[in-house]
Amino acid sequence: MKYYSTNKQAPLADLRKAVVKGLAEDKGLYMPETIHRLPQEFFDNIQDISFQDIAYNVASAFFGEDVELDALQEIVYDTLRFDCPVAKITDNIYSLELFHGPTLAFKDVGARFMARLLRYFIRMEDEEQVNVLVATSGDTGSAVANGFLGVEGIHVYVLYPKGKVSPIQECQFTTLGQNITAIEIDGVFDDCQALVKSAFMDKELNQHMKLTSANSINVARFLPQAFYYFNAYARMKEQGLANQLVMCVPSGNFGNICSALFGHRMGLPIKRFIAANNSNDIFYNYLLTGKYEPRPSIQTLANAMDVGDPSNFARIYDLYNGSHEQITKLISGATYNDQQIRETMRECFAETGYILDPHGACGYRALKEGLKKEEIGVFCETAHPAKFKEKVDEILSIDIEIPERLAAFMKGEKKSVPMSKDFADFKKYLMSR
Ligand SMILES: *Cc1c(COP(=O)(O)O)cnc(C)c1O
Repeated sequence: MKYYSTNKQAPLADLRKAVVKGLAEDKGLYMPETIHRLPQEFFDNIQDISFQDIAYNVASAFFGEDVELDALQEIVYDTLRFDCPVAKITDNIYSLELFHGPTLAFKDVGARFMARLLRYFIRMEDEEQVNVLVATSGDTGSAVANGFLGVEGIHVYVLYPKGKVSPIQECQFTTLGQNITAIEIDGVFDDCQALVKSAFMDKELNQHMKLTSANSINVARFLPQAFYYFNAYARMKEQGLANQLVMCVPSGNFGNICSALFGHRMGLPIKRFIAANNSNDIFYNYLLTGKYEPRPSIQTLANAMDVGDPSNFARIYDLYNGSHEQITKLISGATYNDQQIRETMRECFAETGYILDPHGACGYRALKEGLKKEEIGVFCETAHPAKFKEKVDEILSIDIEIPERLAAFMKGEKKSVPMSKDFADFKKYLMSR
């Protein structure tokens, strides 16, 4: 399979190049040339198939031409060592819990899959060590660090802003050791991101070491998220509830919902989609006006969705040939401010006993307000509420229990390399490695 750039000014790439490079030469995002429809038979029987086997079928359609099937199956099985259950919240609203991975966030699937696919290519090509640079405000760093932990041939550098990530998040990437190095930057998240960007553009550094990125622009990170949606459909069909399914995705960079739309293109029978935003409502406004107008992000309670220029918008736009009409026919939007997020978390907890995290709250509310009476809605609960313990406890006046898996990280010894936000310092450090 060949991959083209959404900017159409770069040469076609094979999967290996798309994964190793991340972004195309013209700064566009890679898109597969063909999106295969899965056979009707697969959908007819999907309710009898496990999450792992559903994922293997979907992965074969994406990557089967470029990865040996035995190896691909192993990559999928090794990635998905956990489940993705659907929980009933009200008569017509269900929560797709994407937080059962090692760091309790949905990004675990993409990060683990990418790590294993990259290792496969390194082994095949007998490549030198690959170095992954990732800037994080919290969630991405923990998912990527844990996804790549112990994977031979790859070293990960996680850059995070000093004092700006929650203690639970910090433990998830500073206590791992092995091939994971945490770098504590004396600055804010934007400084971390700027350092990573400068590193990719620095010729001397790129001659010294092979660098790649692991954010959701990478096809190996965002496409595997489609597994979730096929599984959601299967688990709802199992209960005879899949005829008029509405899928609602709390969105920031729009990688997650974009993978769901790929699923739809492959034949997944979802009736329509809702993209739920916090106050960062760039996509919502695009739906209303047909104009895409990025803005600097605003800080909110649902901070993993604080994105002012969602990178995967380019993929969605490309998928529907830039047709605002096609996009609005299939996808609607919603936007909620912090006050509404709080209100929704309280209301849902009081009425149903279900503890939403601030991201999932946007999804739940969009369904509550937007479902028609014949429809059944499924929203993605993208993080375990305990990951946002300080906020959730305060809003709901509870003392939410920290799951064993999270607590285990907090027992480890925190190790990080202190660094200024000056690129010269960062470069000197990497050149010495
Ligand atoms: C990353 C993230 C999101 C947003 O997902 P996108 O793919 O960037 O749209 C939502 N919720 C949580 C908890 C996240 O970590």
